Amino acid sequence: MMNELDTHTFRLAVAQFNEAAESMHLDTNLRERLKLPQRSLLVSIPVKMDDGHVEVFTGYRVQHDSARGPCKGGIRYHPDVNLGEVAALAMWMTWKCAVADLPYGGAKGGVKVDPKKLSRGELQRLTRRYAAEIFPLIGPDKDVPAPDVGTDQQVMAWIMDTYSQQVGYAVQGVVTGKPLSIGGSLGREEATGRGVSYVTLEALQHLKLDVSKATVAVQGFGNVGSNTALIMQQAGARVVAVSDVSGGLYNPKGLDIAAVLHRYRDKHEPLCEIKLGESITNEELLQLDCTVLVPAALSEQITQANASKLRCRILAEGANGPTTLEADRILTDKGVFIIPDILANSGGVIVSYFEWVQDVQRFFWKAKDIQDRLQDIITSAFHRTLRFSVEKRTTMRMAALMSGIDKVAQAHLQRGLYP
Ligand code: GLU
Repeated sequence: MMNELDTHTFRLAVAQFNEAAESMHLDTNLRERLKLPQRSLLVSIPVKMDDGHVEVFTGYRVQHDSARGPCKGGIRYHPDVNLGEVAALAMWMTWKCAVADLPYGGAKGGVKVDPKKLSRGELQRLTRRYAAEIFPLIGPDKDVPAPDVGTDQQVMAWIMDTYSQQVGYAVQGVVTGKPLSIGGSLGREEATGRGVSYVTLEALQHLKLDVSKATVAVQGFGNVGSNTALIMQQAGARVVAVSDVSGGLYNPKGLDIAAVLHRYRDKHEPLCEIKLGESITNEELLQLDCTVLVPAALSEQITQANASKLRCRILAEGANGPTTLEADRILTDKGVFIIPDILANSGGVIVSYFEWVQDVQRFFWKAKDIQDRLQDIITSAFHRTLRFSVEKRTTMRMAALMSGIDKVAQAHLQRGLYP
């Protein structure tokens, strides 16, 4: 493995891949290839800061595989971003798109920066220069970025504009997760949380658990966590805990998520200071006695150190890579039903696909069409994965990985090796 790639997140992605490849007897040549990214670009991003000095940030765009179609995947702005993490996230995007049967390969981008420390002007200059540096790689038929941790609609709008300025006309299909005014899609903002909720409801039904008696704890209150909490509550579940980096709120009677969101997002009150529940730490949240635990923050939160203390019946992975390999084994032995990340959080990229289809066709759909088609695609993927796991006597994670990898392998074998 290349030194720069060799980080704990990349090792986790490769270890998962190796385990799946071994069980499915994957072609050995393909195994060597699919362990590595197809293409990785490292860029330096000089940004004129508000005080006049120039700071140089490091960014990446990694395309893991494009055999099934244009590469697809978000852009992350976070101080811990590195090549290995971006490459792992790109690999997970390849499997995620294949599991949902989207005609896409996988990619991911990232900039090592804390976006909360930048002014709006600095953020815009950083984004535009990053977009200009990765310009040779992206495009509606090549590689289509989207939001991820630390980026949002506004960042996507700046990328769309920067790309469009270079080619000389408006190209809506170059990124997804855009504002509605420039070719965004209805339902994209809450899509990941909606998808997490749909598969969680399917899992509850499969385990013969009543949603009205289910309790839910959500780690992370960003786009994925907050929308999952809101939609699970609307579906009739009791959301007992939510958290962000600073800690969380716990109320065994159930939190009013809309009220919490209003005070958190609109009034900018720190989560742990909102007096709608008692304050708890992130570690305590993970160990709560609940029906459904939704890690919706960063990777590797559930580890060998805390897995045996988890008391949930279902683990619905809203985040990418929240569970380490050792933790996975402990949870499986405990009988926790895991809805793996590449299935659970695929609602985001599914609606990104709808957005891109609408952009390239220049024909826009109603909100109901988007919700219905999302539900159809993600619940079908859930049941295909469940059937596969029962037939092959394997975990939901291995079932999802094996079926995703198999589709990518078929595409490679049918296309053949160039030249
Ligand atoms: N960043 C999201 C993910 O990890 C969405 C990617 C996309 O929509 O392309 O799945």
